[in-house]
Amino acid sequence: MDATVLVVGAGYAGVAAANRIAAGGAAVTVVDPREEFVERVRLHRLAAGTGAATVPLREVLHRRVRTRAARVTRIGDGTATLDDGDVLRFDRLVYAVGSGAGTAPGGALRVDTLESARRVHDAAAALPDGAVVAVVGAGLTGLETATELAAARPGLRVRLLSAGPVAAELPARSRDRIRARLASLGVEVGEGVTVTDPATLGAGLVVWTTTPAVPGLARDSGLPVDDDGRLRTDATLTCTGDARIVGAGDAVAAPPEVGLVRASCQAALPLGVAAARTVLAGLRGRPAPAASVSYAAQCLALGPDAALIQLVDRHDVPRPVALGGGAAAVVKEQVCRYALRRARGRVA
Ligand SMILES: Cc1cc2nc3c(=O)[nH]c(=O)nc-3n(C[C@H](O)[C@H](O)[C@H](O)COP(=O)(O)OP(=O)(O)OC[C@H]3O[C@@H](n4cnc5c(N)ncnc54)[C@H](O)[C@@H]3O)c2cc1C
Repeated sequence: MDATVLVVGAGYAGVAAANRIAAGGAAVTVVDPREEFVERVRLHRLAAGTGAATVPLREVLHRRVRTRAARVTRIGDGTATLDDGDVLRFDRLVYAVGSGAGTAPGGALRVDTLESARRVHDAAAALPDGAVVAVVGAGLTGLETATELAAARPGLRVRLLSAGPVAAELPARSRDRIRARLASLGVEVGEGVTVTDPATLGAGLVVWTTTPAVPGLARDSGLPVDDDGRLRTDATLTCTGDARIVGAGDAVAAPPEVGLVRASCQAALPLGVAAARTVLAGLRGRPAPAASVSYAAQCLALGPDAALIQLVDRHDVPRPVALGGGAAAVVKEQVCRYALRRARGRVA
């Protein structure tokens, strides 16, 4: 197949897409600043010093996929400009830049990229026992970070602060189980607390887990985006402003018929697979099938040896069933491993 495909972003969606496009016979180059695949689902563990979160990128890619360690700064008319000044031409481009561009107010750190999680790790490691770590935001990332830190460093005083209730989207019974786990780890919980200035918290470290954000690349390139800067696509994940560009993962705003795109591996992986199908169909001159995302569970780690697996319906609405404790931690670990296996596919 005489076509050049660029995949921008080597996360779950980008790797899933690149491997399947290469297996379909097209020449694929993945562009990402790192030569490591970052298992973002493990970044809270890296931050707490309890585990690694990277795999050499080469190990997860199809042998025919080429890599380019660079950041794309602009996508133009069939070209991508890199931060090293090079300009790469493409016949098709997969836009899979994820959602690691969130910001934090002065003095606070985030945990959603490899570099930021390492900064949290270094800052926490330098704190003496008795110091306060404030985790702002009690969504899934805030909960995973607070519980992992509290379990790893029982001498620290970990505070979890949230404008709303902990795990606001989960049923009351699951929230109560989470509160019980937080209490058993000694995490001090402040619900109904809105933090605007980290300096007022009197903490040695503030970890800011609210408002993840997608990179501004699509917007800066003049491509159609939603209010959050996510690339607008049709149901086949084709960009509504440029048929050569196909989106996948957290950075995409797909129409409702695709299903809810929650920032998660559960959405990023099927979107990556669907993006590959769309690219290959386009290169073969065939119509592309519509993408589809559905959900089964929300898997929340609560320290190294406990978790909560909340079953949800295909639209991500919680069912009245959840699994907790050590058995759930085993399931959660299997889910993390499965996510990496699914991204790899059958790497030749
Ligand atoms: C601590 C934590 C725990 C999580 N736990 C879970 C969980 O349990 N279950 C779940 O489903 N989800 C979880 N998530 C969310 C999940 O990790 C993301 O939704 C998922 O990684 C999205 O995949 P993606 O491929 O869209 O983006 P990413 O995995 O973020 O990959 C995006 C890639 O794009 C690259 N990139 C960005 N900009 C550019 C550019 N300009 N040029 C080139 N490359 C670029 C980045 O370097 C990155 O490698 C968690 C996230 C965090 C932070």
